[in-house]
Amino acid sequence: MTATGASAGSRASAKEAGAAGIEVENLTKQFGSFTAVDDVTFTAADGRVTALLGPSGSGKSTVLRAIAGLERPTAGRITIAGEDQTDASVQDRRVGFVFQHYALFRHMSVRDNVAFGLSVRKVAKDEIRRRVDELLDLVQLSPFADRSPSQLSGGQRQRVALARALAPRPRVLLLDEPFGALDARVRRDLRHWLDALHRELGVTSLLVTHDQEEALELANEVVVMHHGRIEQVGSPDEVYNQPATPFVAGFVGSANVIQGHVRDGRVRFGETVLWDANHIDEGSDAHAYIRPHDVKVSGLKTGGATIRAVLDRSKDLGWMSKLHLQLPDGQTLVAHVMNGDLGAHEPGEEVWVDLTEAKVFAPPADGESAAGETPVPRADDSLEAVQATG
Ligand code: ATP
Repeated sequence: MTATGASAGSRASAKEAGAAGIEVENLTKQFGSFTAVDDVTFTAADGRVTALLGPSGSGKSTVLRAIAGLERPTAGRITIAGEDQTDASVQDRRVGFVFQHYALFRHMSVRDNVAFGLSVRKVAKDEIRRRVDELLDLVQLSPFADRSPSQLSGGQRQRVALARALAPRPRVLLLDEPFGALDARVRRDLRHWLDALHRELGVTSLLVTHDQEEALELANEVVVMHHGRIEQVGSPDEVYNQPATPFVAGFVGSANVIQGHVRDGRVRFGETVLWDANHIDEGSDAHAYIRPHDVKVSGLKTGGATIRAVLDRSKDLGWMSKLHLQLPDGQTLVAHVMNGDLGAHEPGEEVWVDLTEAKVFAPPADGESAAGETPVPRADDSLEAVQATG
């Protein structure tokens, strides 16, 4: 699927609609004595896609709802296109909103759903027809204009919801898990389609998701949230490759966690001494986060592969294998190895691993991992397994 249905005219008019940046400053939202959003500050840059990424309950939707005017902040300021919107009405903010659950009007046709925001604004009938045609073309649903939402697939309904949100030319587009209720294949298709659509329209977009793959693929900038606070703001590359906190290291992408302690400025586990840890107090515990694809495995003790491990089991996915390894001190690791890079090995055989690519942190103060349940996040069989814990 692509989003190439838009005419040059619709592209121009969407740009004219005024892509605009969003500034959230020191936003706090309390529900009774519970702080759902705690002093959150970030900018969603003009014309870009910003993702709010975090596990369930981390406060993402509350931030989005506050920007939309659906939730009144306890403290802080919200600015759109340089205008203070903190106390503005929902209508005055001119934001487009797409929720996870299709909020289409079931008794209205696709065409009337898309026209809704324009009809209530008393836009002239001709103008409404022109704009709706343009948007149905854009979301590639022109042949479905007269159907009712119940005659569409889930993915098509979300495209109608998007067209409806775009119809009144919003200054910004707020997307709250827009593909959350769809199956994995449709999600992936819609993700590519939304990416292409954004390239055409350039409307400032803020996307709430707990799916790190979705955030990394779609967003120019990612705001990682946890317990109502921001853990890190950065490009997809920064949050993935330079995680600022143990939470980000465990939540964005899958990671093995090796537990050790610091002696003479280095992390030790079992008999092994690795990684500099001058940033952690001497004698303290330390956690090293290692991506499964950064665990280099060799049949021979060679180069950096100096740590002995035993192969517990492996799964061949055709193009790569997932190896479950046990280190001499009993800790376990998952390695992703391209098929052909390592000869055939049987469970119980000895291999050698290189673990130099690691991010070392002091253990999280609250003892809580990215998974929020187990003390330490673990690289599991798949990225999805780690995501599912969010
Ligand atoms: P999810 O991905 O599950 O939607 P989220 O990160 O979007 O989670 P929010 O919906 O923003 O999280 O909720 C943050 C916290 O605030 C949660 O603990 C939630 O229970 C609480 N919360 C949200 N809305 C209300 C409300 N109206 N009254 C009381 N508590 C609320």
